[in-house]
Amino acid sequence: MADPQLNRRILIIDDSEAIHADYHKVLELPAGADECLEVEDLEDVLLGRAERTTAPTFKVESAYQGEHGVAMAKAALLEGHPYAMAFVDMRMPPGWDGLRTIEELWAIDSHIQVVICSAHADYEWAEVVERLQHSDRLLVLRKPFEPIEVQQCASALCHKWHNERIVRGQVESLERVVAARTHGLEAANEQLRHIATHDVLTGLPNRALLDDRLHQMIAQGPRNAQPFAVLMCDLDRFKLINDSMGHRAGDAFLQSVASRLTEVIRTGDTLARRGGDEFVFLVNSPIDGSDAQSIAQRALQVLDAPVRIDGIDIHVAASIGIAMYPRDGDRADILLANADAAMYSAKQRGSNLIEQFSPEMRGLTPHRLQLESDLHRALELQQFELHYQPKVDTNTGMVRSAEALVRWRHPERGLLGPTEFIAIAESSGQIVPLGEWVLNEACRQARKWQDEGLPPLRIGVNVSAAQFRQGELVRTVEQALDAAGLEPHFLELELTESAVMRSPEESVAILEELSSMGILVSVDDFGTGYSSMSYLRRFPIDKLKIDKSFVCDMVARAEDASIVQAIISLAHSLKLKVVAEGVETGEQLAVLKSLGCDQYQGFHFCCALPANEFKALMKAQDAGIASRLEPVEPTQSKLTALRQR
Ligand code: C2E
Ligand code: CA
Ligand code: CA
Repeated sequence: MADPQLNRRILIIDDSEAIHADYHKVLELPAGADECLEVEDLEDVLLGRAERTTAPTFKVESAYQGEHGVAMAKAALLEGHPYAMAFVDMRMPPGWDGLRTIEELWAIDSHIQVVICSAHADYEWAEVVERLQHSDRLLVLRKPFEPIEVQQCASALCHKWHNERIVRGQVESLERVVAARTHGLEAANEQLRHIATHDVLTGLPNRALLDDRLHQMIAQGPRNAQPFAVLMCDLDRFKLINDSMGHRAGDAFLQSVASRLTEVIRTGDTLARRGGDEFVFLVNSPIDGSDAQSIAQRALQVLDAPVRIDGIDIHVAASIGIAMYPRDGDRADILLANADAAMYSAKQRGSNLIEQFSPEMRGLTPHRLQLESDLHRALELQQFELHYQPKVDTNTGMVRSAEALVRWRHPERGLLGPTEFIAIAESSGQIVPLGEWVLNEACRQARKWQDEGLPPLRIGVNVSAAQFRQGELVRTVEQALDAAGLEPHFLELELTESAVMRSPEESVAILEELSSMGILVSVDDFGTGYSSMSYLRRFPIDKLKIDKSFVCDMVARAEDASIVQAIISLAHSLKLKVVAEGVETGEQLAVLKSLGCDQYQGFHFCCALPANEFKALMKAQDAGIASRLEPVEPTQSKLTALRQR
């Protein structure tokens, strides 16, 4: 059966017209036979005949000179209908001979199949085949030929051309598949390299790539190397967010921080995530450190707006330390450690601050691992102690209560404040036993003062998110009160907003239980965590403690003063008491008084004191009163909570 796909286009190149006529006769059907063929084809199908016996027909075209034939082959190729084969005469004066013609043909169309024809015996066929490099696209035919020879050559070579094209197509598609796979492998490889050198969560370079870049920058040698800066940026209070809102929220928070910090870097600088909430910038050629300083400032600026996660606005704050190469170190580890020390120093001074490294900071590096391992034994070695800071009545100046603030008397480092170890204790889980110790010690001390004849006062204890979540808080508190013999209304627990917001339902239940025992609950650092304040109505809370950052700027910034004012009026409308933290000047106190703030804490009155000094202060202030406790009225939130029960 005629294959419609088969290319039957044949080129005859011969200088003899008579020969052309012969080819046409042998290879083409007489005019009108086409239709017959189609009918025959139909019969083949109907009768199920596999092979048709009639000779196949071809499309034959003529050229009388080699040059002409090659031009026709070129045109056919351009049309997209190339010749499948050509019959080429050996001698075609005056033009090219057959050999040259074949070479030219193959130069423009390397797939065309060729039959060389010659009547003459003056060719050494071996030589001809040699010259055409034993091509398998070539057959030799001696004139005069039998029609069947021509038909068979035409049929076989058209099929050969066709099969080769199929094979070529398959090879090409195979090559395309291979190319695609290779490309895929390369991409996968690239991705693997990326994963090995980048942080999965934020996509930023990781610690390995950071070290690599840092070493490269140093490798040029101090004489050739450009000065550069290492900026260590550590988020403040990230642990709290992670603990109170969960890891998913913590991750989203870090991603958002990373993308904001990325806005700050210039081409050629590096921003890496070194782990946890620690980001490192490598800033190129800041001659005097001012570039680094301005990048650090921009970093704090871009972090200024709150990050919204799960419908809650979280305020970001960070501390940044800067170390310069080669001034502050000519080794990667030293530069990182010194940037770390500067960051640590910034953190100690407060929040959202930038510090340049200076040699006296060296001792500040917390050597976290060492501290963590020391911390393990600190409890059993009884290295902790509590200091007490008075909470003072804004109107009368009377000390109402005391906040217990933990200190660590470290055998080598001296007295350490909580900012140096609370975060470590939280991340290592030691905050739970430490918090339990603080609770017991504070209750014991409060009772002891009472036994010593001081007018009874309330004792405030900070409770970390981990303790609150752990589920044992109520029992731990009961046991501490029992062991000390202290009545519950002498105890006040200070919790941060984020600690109670983690799982509000659970929190309400715990707070209700504590409230029903008579214990007071304060929200610590109020204003720095959640913007949503609706929880204040639902949670049985007694006091808000306005964070010291608002108090600090209150006198200079009208905006902060109005925030403080708003917090106070909100609190009072819910019958909550308000305590201002970090009051350092008489001016601040005067403003707070005018705004109706109930109590305050701060260096203006006094800092946290060891137990014996606190006792001496109380004695000196002894106004002959029976109790220092402020009268407690049930707050709006307590009533609401009770009503909802
Ligand atoms: P906090 O609960 O906000 O405690 C107040 C902090 O402000 C104390 O720092 C206090 O010494 C300091 N401060 C008091 N008055 C002023 C002032 O006028 N100006 C300034 N700039 N600061 C003032 P401290 O003792 O270093 O405690 C830091 C934080 O450590 C506390 O902040 C609290 O969150 C945490 N902490 C302290 N003791 C404990 C504890 O026993 N358990 C837990 N979980 N956390 C604790
Ligand atoms: Ca507190
Ligand atoms: Ca506070």
